[in-house]
Amino acid sequence: MQEPGTVCALAIAGSDSGGGAGIQADLKTFAAHRVHGLSAIAALTAQHTRGVVAVHVPPAGFLRAQIDACFDDFAIGAIKLGMLANVETVAAVADALEAHAPVPVVLDPVMVATSGARLLEDAALDALRRRLLPRASLLTPNLPEAELLLGRRIRDRAAMRAACGALLACGAGAVLLKGGHLEEEADTVLDLYADADGMHEMTHPRLPRSAHGTGCTLASAVAAQLCLGRSRREACVAATGYVHRALAGGYAPGRGGVLVLDHI
Ligand code: PLP
Repeated sequence: MQEPGTVCALAIAGSDSGGGAGIQADLKTFAAHRVHGLSAIAALTAQHTRGVVAVHVPPAGFLRAQIDACFDDFAIGAIKLGMLANVETVAAVADALEAHAPVPVVLDPVMVATSGARLLEDAALDALRRRLLPRASLLTPNLPEAELLLGRRIRDRAAMRAACGALLACGAGAVLLKGGHLEEEADTVLDLYADADGMHEMTHPRLPRSAHGTGCTLASAVAAQLCLGRSRREACVAATGYVHRALAGGYAPGRGGVLVLDHI
């Protein structure tokens, strides 16, 4: 049993009724790392393995109450930010982070689901860039998200390296840029880690499968590793390995046939 004062990880993100992504993936990931997980639900999705059916965003004041309740009672070692839906939610999270003692923030800039559903309003992109990016200890975009944040195309490894530099210049403390969408790489997946000390390439063999919730899981695995005392870079290496193993064991629980991760 964990003792009072043991560090906990907090996920501020959207819920997935299908249990594959969002808060559900975050809490499973924290548990797999033996880290107690807290959650503040920023949006609810009615969702299954065939797509997002409906989205409900609770009032920003209620999100703030969830975040404050977590800070009032627990020692929080890291925060993972996921689906934030709209401008009001982004502002509520930014205000809450400013009001409480600083904690490392892993920002997964969730924008569009693989199924095509919008998970962040267009109008909220600028608020996320201005108010949350400078507070992120680590930003974990995939290539389409990095393209939207920077307003330019990222088509090869050189462009990935330049994008990492540009995202650091926007105020993120470190960047983990996920290269899974890079078309030129058939057999491998390149992820780039960058901070003020330099850049580090992480390459994995590409598995012949993809799953729902990999981005959420990667960011929450990094948050769990930070709670366990790893450096940002070590946490990214370990978290990438965790997602790779979870993907290898992925299974299809719904009729849509989409895989979810096996949280081991
Ligand atoms: N639903 C929620 C609540 C999410 O946070 C996310 C991704 O972050 C998704 C769905 C989309 O997951 P995927 O694009 O992996 O299918």
